[in-house]
Amino acid sequence: MSKKKLSAALRNLSESAFDFLVRSVEEIKAHPKYSVIHFATAVELILKARLMREHWTLVVERTSDVSVDDFLSGKAKTVTQGDAIKRLKNACSENIPQDAVTQFAQIAAHRNRMIHFFHEAARRQADDKLTEEIVKELCLCWFHLERLLSDWDDQFDEFEKEISTVTWRMKQLRAYLQVAFDRLKPDIDAEKKAGTVFKICSGCGFEAAAVAEVSEVFFEQRCKVCGLGESYIEIPCPGECGETLHIDGHNVSGMTCEECGYEVTSEDLSEALDTEFSDPSDFEPQINCAQCSSLGSVVQHGETFVCTECLYSEDSAPQCDWCNERQIGGGDLEYSYHTGCEFCDGHAGWTKDD
Ligand SMILES: [Zn+2]
Ligand SMILES: [Zn+2]
Ligand SMILES: [Zn+2]
Ligand SMILES: [Zn+2]
Repeated sequence: MSKKKLSAALRNLSESAFDFLVRSVEEIKAHPKYSVIHFATAVELILKARLMREHWTLVVERTSDVSVDDFLSGKAKTVTQGDAIKRLKNACSENIPQDAVTQFAQIAAHRNRMIHFFHEAARRQADDKLTEEIVKELCLCWFHLERLLSDWDDQFDEFEKEISTVTWRMKQLRAYLQVAFDRLKPDIDAEKKAGTVFKICSGCGFEAAAVAEVSEVFFEQRCKVCGLGESYIEIPCPGECGETLHIDGHNVSGMTCEECGYEVTSEDLSEALDTEFSDPSDFEPQINCAQCSSLGSVVQHGETFVCTECLYSEDSAPQCDWCNERQIGGGDLEYSYHTGCEFCDGHAGWTKDD
């Protein structure tokens, strides 16, 4: 019996998430406050719905004290967004990129500020600046959420219609950023004249992402309108069909050449990016990526270190004083002997069980 109830509850939770999402993008002009509140709530509910699909107890804060009936009647306290993300990582092996985690935490904090301190009535005048800031924030959040939803398409396939409604509405929302784009246009034109290449930004859709060529094959772009940073590589197809492949951080795994059907592997990427020809008989600690939680996925590319799983890059790859492995994307590892790195628990973890 409770199985049926649980699946109905999961459906309600997911429906509620998409309802908040659709509302959020519909009401931005009239009710910017609710737009933020509803979007942040939608993010949280989608993360919880994904957890609940694994098991309902994962959504509950303190599982041991709670019965399924308590849960179904809404009496149980549910996990925080931060813990939900940790559980997705640990219990469901889902990788949520660090950039997405940061963006989701930001909108959650913004929601709390809006709830406590923002009075729409006191701001009855349409405030274009505020709308612009909120649209930027929603664009960045949607960029990450859309990627997660596409990774989880088997989980949310019943909501295809809602997802495409939001996708379409998000594209319309971009019109609110036209003013920002027009304001930046003279700068962009001047930089173009000086030789900078601009690409279409995946966050806001404007041709405002200035490309920095890190090397002949590795590029980073940052959007002047919404601030989204993206990396991509361009390499000749390893299938030797003559095509140039454009690979971004999200399509690294399973990328297939449209020309010849060759499926690019992370070994191909290591080969294309790795500029250090180390003697295989030398022992070198592997370099991990804390952004996407991949082990040994990072190669040195000239002066920088690049992850071949997610294309995150950093100029240095500090070594953990406890496990001796190196990593990027997880800070400077200053106290790592005690606290460990993204991939070990350090001395504190080792002695904990004694
Ligand atoms: Zn942008
Ligand atoms: Zn090819
Ligand atoms: Zn990575
Ligand atoms: Zn470590």
